[in-house]
Amino acid sequence: MRWIASVAFCVVSIVAASAQEGFNVEHLDRSVDACTDFYQFACGNWLATHPLPADRSRFNRLNELADRNVRIVRGILEDAAFNKTDRTPDEQKIGDAYAACIDQETIEARGVKPAQPLLRDIDSIKTREQLIKLAARFSHDGFPSFITLGSAPDPHDSTRFIATLGQGAMGLPDRDLYLKDDERSTMLRKEYVAHVGRMFALANLPSSMANSVMNVETVIARATMDRVAFRDPRRRDNPATIADLKQLAPNIDWTSYLPATGAPKNLLNALNHLNLLNPGYLRDISAALDTIPLDSWKAYMQWHALDALASLLTSRFELEQFHFNGEILSGQKEMRPRRLRCTDVVAGQPGADALGELVGKIFVQRQFGAEAKARMDEMIAALRNSLRQTLSSVDWMSAETRTHALAKLEAMNRKIGGPDKWRDFSAITIKRDDYAGNSIRIAIADTQRQLRWIGQPIDRTLWIVTPQTVNAFYAPPLNEVTFPAGILQPPIFDAGKDAAVNFGAAGAMIGHEMTHGFDDGGRRYDPQGNLMDWWTPRDDAAFRERASCVAAQYNRYESLPGVNLNGNLTLGENVADNGGVRIAYYALMELLSAKGAQPTVDGFAADQRFFIAYAQVWCENATDEDFRRRAQEDVHASGRWRTNGVLQNMPEFRKAFGCRDGTPMAPVNACRVW
Ligand SMILES: [Zn+2]
Repeated sequence: MRWIASVAFCVVSIVAASAQEGFNVEHLDRSVDACTDFYQFACGNWLATHPLPADRSRFNRLNELADRNVRIVRGILEDAAFNKTDRTPDEQKIGDAYAACIDQETIEARGVKPAQPLLRDIDSIKTREQLIKLAARFSHDGFPSFITLGSAPDPHDSTRFIATLGQGAMGLPDRDLYLKDDERSTMLRKEYVAHVGRMFALANLPSSMANSVMNVETVIARATMDRVAFRDPRRRDNPATIADLKQLAPNIDWTSYLPATGAPKNLLNALNHLNLLNPGYLRDISAALDTIPLDSWKAYMQWHALDALASLLTSRFELEQFHFNGEILSGQKEMRPRRLRCTDVVAGQPGADALGELVGKIFVQRQFGAEAKARMDEMIAALRNSLRQTLSSVDWMSAETRTHALAKLEAMNRKIGGPDKWRDFSAITIKRDDYAGNSIRIAIADTQRQLRWIGQPIDRTLWIVTPQTVNAFYAPPLNEVTFPAGILQPPIFDAGKDAAVNFGAAGAMIGHEMTHGFDDGGRRYDPQGNLMDWWTPRDDAAFRERASCVAAQYNRYESLPGVNLNGNLTLGENVADNGGVRIAYYALMELLSAKGAQPTVDGFAADQRFFIAYAQVWCENATDEDFRRRAQEDVHASGRWRTNGVLQNMPEFRKAFGCRDGTPMAPVNACRVW
């Protein structure tokens, strides 16, 4: 099921969506000069010996790590589902949820039935008032629609949650695909309409409704902010009262919509304060309720209901969904085996955490001890110290701005491993023979939990990702870094390993997340996570000048021949990568200077091992479709440029590998922000 739960926090992470050792000479391609193409040098043999699996569109070394976690999690689920006799209430939930997902016979026998009541209700709509009530029901249950209500930290009071209204759902992954006339956009629109039509036909609905879906989504696309603009937190900061909202979007009856979503009743009066991520979107969609026929809106709602529920229905729906989302959009050849998909469904995946925390509790007990946590604490302290020195010494920042920057670093909170306080799932009923029902109940519980936060103080112990997640995060509104147990495994982190390798991989990751607090978006927030401008005009200009060097640098890089990265879309991540590797390097140097001279390992000195370990995190194979898609959608650069882009800017790298000025890895014009 593809639920879009409300976006609670804006988080920036180290990997896009989403080998047992961090430094391996077998992965090197020694036929390539390290000063010509370091990525190829560090990863060449890995790339040649790890062909893309047929059930992936992309495979990198973090996927290797994730696959190992999935095996562990799957073991936990299979035990709870089939092997244990005396199950705890938690094991009953995760075990039966998994068993219900595996039970394809029961799922096939139900056919389209689980979707029918909702599809019928949508079909029976006769008025705009009923359409708005339906949108409220979608918001209540966690289905995507043209109104997206959620909760998030108040941009001006980061101690409290506020209601947010976002932009509407679209089936194609980027608004530009609806609006541009290049070959790929035109092809994808055609394929998408055909896919929506086939899905309608499978549900015994007229496939001609697909054209209405395209018409509605094109209007939504026009009203939606483009990705680069949306990255700017100031553009997403638009406080409004209910009265403002009524004036902005008069065709939506907010007094009928809001209470029906499950949001706190006093939102309409006592709180009376929300944040609009894009006011223009709400204005345009309100106007479109006059110009687009009701039947087209109904087709749009039926489509999003069906698309969200498709994975709960028969294999024909799943295969059709895979054909479009997997094969056409990403070039993936085969579906993941059902047991692995069910592991993802129950234990959580990005954007849908399901019962993930229940599984995560067991995962943390087995995989992440007190010793690993202590080592992480030490590394975080070393990285914080290194970033403190950078902030104290960059020559372009005035004393006034520097004081604020240092205060922000000191206030930065960190979370490691998993929550101390676990979420209570006891109210959710999980049945062994009701896959669709389970998923729907979980999604409603999740959505309602997040809507209940509106107006409440923020619980700073809350985890918004599961502990088994293979990713790391910085949350600007909380000024907080999170490192789940899932990513604190080899090749990223190995408590007993060579420090040079740990700092090249885990150190660079910690540095990356910390630097997000000072990237082009993160720097807009104060130490408490409130949107506040603490930059003098001169320092602001100095930052922008340095950042524009990075944007221009990555604009020049090609993901595929003729497909360039978008330097402004990836700017925050690239600033974080560049700062992160640099401060990790200096944290390592400080540690080693205390330890004295270091031996070489496998012929490489400590600084060389550091850079190889960093590069080898990003070895990746992917389909052309995936590279093309990420160049348009992903805020992260591809693995090659996450490696070479950073190292081309570092004199420390040139020194380590003896690269002469002017060689490809030692260009004349290097960029540096932090
Ligand atoms: Zn990041």
